[in-house]
Amino acid sequence: MRVAVRYSDTESSKKIRDMIYASCASSGFELDDVNPELAISVGGDGTLLKTFHTYADQLDSVRFVGLHTGHLGFYTDWLESELPEFLAALSNDSGESVSYPLLEVEIEYSDGQVVQHIALNESAIRRYEGTMTCEIFIKEEKFEFFKGDGLCISTPTGSTGLNKSLGGAVVHPRLDTIQMTEIASINNRVYRSLASPLLIAKDEWIVLKPVKAHAMTGVFLSLDHLNMPLNDVEKITYRVAKERVHFARYRHMHFWDRVENSFIGINDYPKRKLTKEEK
Ligand code: NAP
Repeated sequence: MRVAVRYSDTESSKKIRDMIYASCASSGFELDDVNPELAISVGGDGTLLKTFHTYADQLDSVRFVGLHTGHLGFYTDWLESELPEFLAALSNDSGESVSYPLLEVEIEYSDGQVVQHIALNESAIRRYEGTMTCEIFIKEEKFEFFKGDGLCISTPTGSTGLNKSLGGAVVHPRLDTIQMTEIASINNRVYRSLASPLLIAKDEWIVLKPVKAHAMTGVFLSLDHLNMPLNDVEKITYRVAKERVHFARYRHMHFWDRVENSFIGINDYPKRKLTKEEK
């Protein structure tokens, strides 16, 4: 098996990288940063996002696995303290994987050029100078006129990231869907948008079109941790991508356990002693 190891810039990540290299050598795995079959990310969910984008053009042939050097993450199944178990699972890798939906972002520029991008968490579009205005279509039908700071379109696995901070729903990654959340929309007697998160089906798509009178200038588009300025855009189309991301399945992790562990921590509860009334 060809293996790549991507890691965050910390001493503990580098130490773990060296131990993974040694384990790969003793298992007869080849280290290959260019065309790996397995990409191991050592760091946080942020490191896994970077690893994903490094191999985003090889999604059919690469499986990902993440080892977190801090708390348990959403893309990182293993903790630093579990390194021996992780190395044992790695050397017994049977090629099993689990796959999750991705977001396709297609940008059509005024000169007719069309560029496609992919995101694992989400793509957000924001305007920092003044509000952003655009028309929103679902499939071919006009749905609403949006005015506000921006919009975020997320995948199910990205639903616990920026989407959640914007009041979006946490979505189980077995659902083939994408979710749109508004960023500070203006809703009054003049402007009206849904003002709730919405999820679309796999065979639907969302289109944003700048309104000519409010040309889309000074707008930035994010793809996970990446950001780019957008100019001269005719329309942007978001849909569930044809490609999926594959994660090596060394052990089963329940999605809702991850959510509970990250956001609620019921196993640590109560953080303080309950009062008599609360009991
Ligand atoms: P960053 O500072 O590297 O990451 C922000 C935090 O988001 C980190 O704690 C990261 O976890 C966590 N994270 C990443 N993906 C997640 C997911 N799917 N579910 C739950 N938490 C997740 O920020 P960045 O590099 O600019 O952007 C990376 C991602 O961070 C974005 O795709 C976005 O989803 C998220 N983000 C969230 C907010 C917000 O909630 N207001 C703002 C900016 C970015 P680790 O510590 O494990 O890396």
